[in-house]
Amino acid sequence: SGKTLIVSFGEMLIDFVPTVSGVSLAEAPGFLKAPGGAPANVAIAVSRLGGKASFVGKLGDDDFGRMLADILKQNGVSGDGILFDEGARTALAFVTLRADGEREFMFYRNPSADMLLKPEELNLDLIRSAKVFHYGSISLIVEPCRSAHLKAMEVAKESGALLSYDPNLRLPLWPSADEARKQILSIWDKADIIKVSDVELEFLTGSDKIDDETAMKLWRPNLTLLLVTLGEKGSRYYTKNFHGAVDAFHVNTVDTTGAGDSFVGALLCKIVEDPTIPENESKLREVLKFANACGAITTTKKGAIPALPAEADVLALING
Ligand code: ADP
Repeated sequence: SGKTLIVSFGEMLIDFVPTVSGVSLAEAPGFLKAPGGAPANVAIAVSRLGGKASFVGKLGDDDFGRMLADILKQNGVSGDGILFDEGARTALAFVTLRADGEREFMFYRNPSADMLLKPEELNLDLIRSAKVFHYGSISLIVEPCRSAHLKAMEVAKESGALLSYDPNLRLPLWPSADEARKQILSIWDKADIIKVSDVELEFLTGSDKIDDETAMKLWRPNLTLLLVTLGEKGSRYYTKNFHGAVDAFHVNTVDTTGAGDSFVGALLCKIVEDPTIPENESKLREVLKFANACGAITTTKKGAIPALPAEADVLALING
């Protein structure tokens, strides 16, 4: 079709989520196997909204890896960028739901297949065909996937893609907080579009005041659009010419997993069709309203992928 391609690069894994909260992982009566990994969620978010998406990353050649590849396929995401490692297993995350609603993660990365993606294994033709290239930070943590990540970014940029970055901080995966901050900021000025959460804003700036002044600390001259998502408080946007905020939708929230990925997927879907969106404030506000609606809907169901909306769901929420 004539649709333009959004390539999402990084990890895909399975979250083992206990069926109850407030007990330790070992005490939970059962688990749900929830496919996730922010870059994979974004690819599926795009596809569910009718966009064309491809996921680039490595899975284990095991039952979990095959299950994840099937999920991408069933959701209409191209598998041209998926690789299977012959030795290593698919990454797993063991989640504890604390009584206060926060999540704690323990990861199987020993190493997991995603960490072993090598630059020379990348499908460069696929990456060159991207109009938008999206990535996170987890693939920056270790070699060789770090080099693969940097190479893929470079090839996408050279081919004229818009680069979209969601640092998607998972602090326990990093050797230290300082290292995380340093590495995340080391690729900051390569992106055209960056989305951070309020937690990431605080972490990266060292300031606990979530305001425009703090957000501006993350502004770089080469950026086209900086977004800060604030959960039930909606989102804020910054461009070189204007900035502002767009309110969230009121919904019945049961699980916020994937809201940010849904927001990003929606934004990228709109921008790939019209790259002038960040230059026009009223168009941008319209798109962020759409993206906020996607994020909101994603919180109304358990899990990330099952909760990602189709366009009709989004329009139903927007048009009340
Ligand atoms: P992240 O998942 O990256 O932390 P957020 O939780 O801020 O990102 O969610 C992204 C967007 O989804 C928000 O900007 C907001 O529009 C929407 N959203 C998230 N949580 C809620 C909520 N509880 N109620 C309504 N909208 C929400």
